[in-house]
Amino acid sequence: MQPKQSIVSLPVYQPGKPIEEVKRELGLKEVIKLASNENPFGSSEQAKAAVLKEMENISIYPDSFSTELTAEVAKFLGVERDQIIFGAGSDEVILMLARAFLVPGDETVMADETFSQYRHNAVIEGATIVEVPLKNGVHDLPAMLNKITDLTKIVWVCNPNNPTGTIVGREELKSFISQVPSHVIVVLDEAYIEYITDESALPDSVALIGEYKNVILLRTFSKIHGLASLRIGYGAAHVDLIRMVNQVREPFNTTRIAQAAAIASLADQDFVKSCRERNAEGKAYMYKQFDRLGLPYFEAHGNFVMVDVKMPSGQAFDGLLRRGIISRARWKHYPNHIRITIGSQDQNEAFIAALESVLTEAAVLG
Ligand SMILES: *Cc1c(COP(=O)(O)O)cnc(C)c1O
Repeated sequence: MQPKQSIVSLPVYQPGKPIEEVKRELGLKEVIKLASNENPFGSSEQAKAAVLKEMENISIYPDSFSTELTAEVAKFLGVERDQIIFGAGSDEVILMLARAFLVPGDETVMADETFSQYRHNAVIEGATIVEVPLKNGVHDLPAMLNKITDLTKIVWVCNPNNPTGTIVGREELKSFISQVPSHVIVVLDEAYIEYITDESALPDSVALIGEYKNVILLRTFSKIHGLASLRIGYGAAHVDLIRMVNQVREPFNTTRIAQAAAIASLADQDFVKSCRERNAEGKAYMYKQFDRLGLPYFEAHGNFVMVDVKMPSGQAFDGLLRRGIISRARWKHYPNHIRITIGSQDQNEAFIAALESVLTEAAVLG
């Protein structure tokens, strides 16, 4: 058997460690997972009710075009229905973009470091990865612009960026997009956009897709909507771009249950708002504690914080794990940083207590 050359040495995605596995391995009763930016407040009660109701219909294939959900999302964004495409999570929209556009020899520009799935899917398609270092944890848009050539097909902007949590300035983003040649697709991955509390920092992404045919924004129901296990997210762009991506979409790529839950969750903006507010409170608590412990961190705009723990992150990860906290560590360019999801107040307090104990043990704290 001979697979595609591009997949032979491809690293397998390393998800956050599952809670059950950690409990088993370390014999712990209580384990808190703050590793995958899941919603600590669960999901909307209305979404749960919609899931139960839709169970009656699970023997029937889903609506391939997600007609009802498309109408709701189009209304929510203020765009036309044919400007939206759904995926099994926005991960699948990333996959579809790579599949539809990238061939060996193409170049694709992304930050280093950023969300792993841009690189992963581009490598599978045999494209050449052009990585541009973050500048103080933020996308360096002018440097990324400089890396665009006639061979460039897609530029990825993760905003807020995973793992650093930083955002690019609104005007800076506009200026960047206005200078990107029209043959290059700009992907604005906004998985955490709903967590932004500072209105003046909100990117004008919906206006941008109206103005530029080569811009696509990606959003998901996995993060603030708390529907990660149902796998549903979307892309929004000019109708011509959406039509191209649709060519490679599997006919039944999202489920009935996911579509029903997403409709209900989108309607429950009170839940979204309350999660945004509680996340902001949790973030303020984390900042205060990190300041007290003398730990620097990147300004966070999502539901996670990248903090410098002043010791090898793998060692901090292991210490936290033994104390029942699952974090994310071992970043390529940030050997002393861990990424921690902002949890509920109880979870945040448990995390800080565990971190303080790890830092004391490692003699980072006096
Ligand atoms: C979580 C995440 C996604 C995708 O999540 P899905 O569950 O596939 O919708 C996309 N981009 C970033 C930056 C993320 O953190």
